[in-house]
Amino acid sequence: TEYSREDILRIAENENVRFIRLQFTDILGAIKNVEIPVSQLDKALDGEMMFDGSSIEGFVRLEESDMYLKPDFNTWVIFPWEHNGRRIARLICDVYDIDGNPFEGDPRSNLKRVVKEMEEMGYEGMNLGAEPEFFLFKLDKEGNPTTEPSDEGGYFDLAAMDDGEECRREISRTLEEMGFEVEMFHHENAPGQQEISFKYADAVTSSDNLQTFKLVAKTVARRYNLHATFMPKPIYGQPGSGMHYNVSLFREGKNVFYDENDEFGLSKEMRHFMAGLLMHARGYTAVCNPLVNSYKRLQSGFEAPKYIAWSGRNRSPLLRIPSTRGAATRAEVRSLDPSANPYLATAAILKAGLEGIRNETELDTPVDENIYEMTKKQRDVENIEDLPTTLYTALKALREDEVIQEALGKHIYKQFYDNKYLEWQMYSAQITEWELDEYLTQH
Ligand code: GLU
Ligand code: MG
Ligand code: MG
Repeated sequence: TEYSREDILRIAENENVRFIRLQFTDILGAIKNVEIPVSQLDKALDGEMMFDGSSIEGFVRLEESDMYLKPDFNTWVIFPWEHNGRRIARLICDVYDIDGNPFEGDPRSNLKRVVKEMEEMGYEGMNLGAEPEFFLFKLDKEGNPTTEPSDEGGYFDLAAMDDGEECRREISRTLEEMGFEVEMFHHENAPGQQEISFKYADAVTSSDNLQTFKLVAKTVARRYNLHATFMPKPIYGQPGSGMHYNVSLFREGKNVFYDENDEFGLSKEMRHFMAGLLMHARGYTAVCNPLVNSYKRLQSGFEAPKYIAWSGRNRSPLLRIPSTRGAATRAEVRSLDPSANPYLATAAILKAGLEGIRNETELDTPVDENIYEMTKKQRDVENIEDLPTTLYTALKALREDEVIQEALGKHIYKQFYDNKYLEWQMYSAQITEWELDEYLTQH
């Protein structure tokens, strides 16, 4: 919905909104809020609300810590739940520095910068339809999350089996109340695992939607004594949670990925875009799979990709082309997981694809057999590379990929890299249960 300043002031008054959360996302993907009483809304809408950026992880140095929040009016939403009987609304904001420029460390402003590059290449927009998967787990007596699934259900199971069903329905209803169009919501393969897909939108809106969705899922789950987690691989031996990205580019209202004269219905631009996605796949993995745990999913099969290839048919490669053609022609990127910061992941994916178009990168032939069943030798013949297998190798690949670094911008790249490298070092120093079981008595 499009709102003017006057609309927002009027609605806030009529609906008796008491507080407004000015939201933005930090580099690691966490939603941050500055909450203001409605008396300050006027000032906030003028972009005059200041906050101290030095308190935000990886944001700024102390001496330049004052930042401004500029709300995007069209993100105005009243939360459909109350806090102690009070109604609260939110506005998603861009972060500006004291000189009135978009702040380099703000993931949302950074995505807008990459979107502008796309526009300069003559495209109106990238349509993005995301399919985040997640788990619903039970809480223990103290209210802490466990890894006990909300149910024993499986793929598309029916209500009788499915305790998470009511919760899922309530998440869906809440989202619709907030203006989302939910396309599908179903049980995934693992017990307690769910998948939602909502209607595609432009790059920035879709990223906003993913952040809102996570907040709603976690909030609603609590009411059902459940915990919603976007951790990519919470249970050993079960499928992990991915977040497929369905992408296409538009110009003059038409999907440029579709070409009715091509034997497969795919345009040259789409082939180049996909070639860019394959060429930079190693580089953007750290961004799209940012946790140590992300690689436990990518290594394990269960329809998560491990190799860099594309296919029109099967689900083992990184890229798949769903069979719909015409306006819905799109590429599905299957490696991302829902722990990714959506603004950074979207910027990286868009930039990789645009780079393919800019350089007219040639797309290799599709791999239609199951890559997991191919031998290393067969994969070498077909020139199929692996995705990084650990956060460490992914960070190394990011360090070698200047295009993806550019997609993040200098400030975010440095903060992201340093932060993730530390995470890897902390993890590597741990002595795990597995090691003790395996080595303590054997050696
Ligand atoms: N859960 C799978 C993954 O980790 C994806 C399953 C599907 O195709 O929806 O990517
Ligand atoms: Mg799925
Ligand atoms: Mg999918």
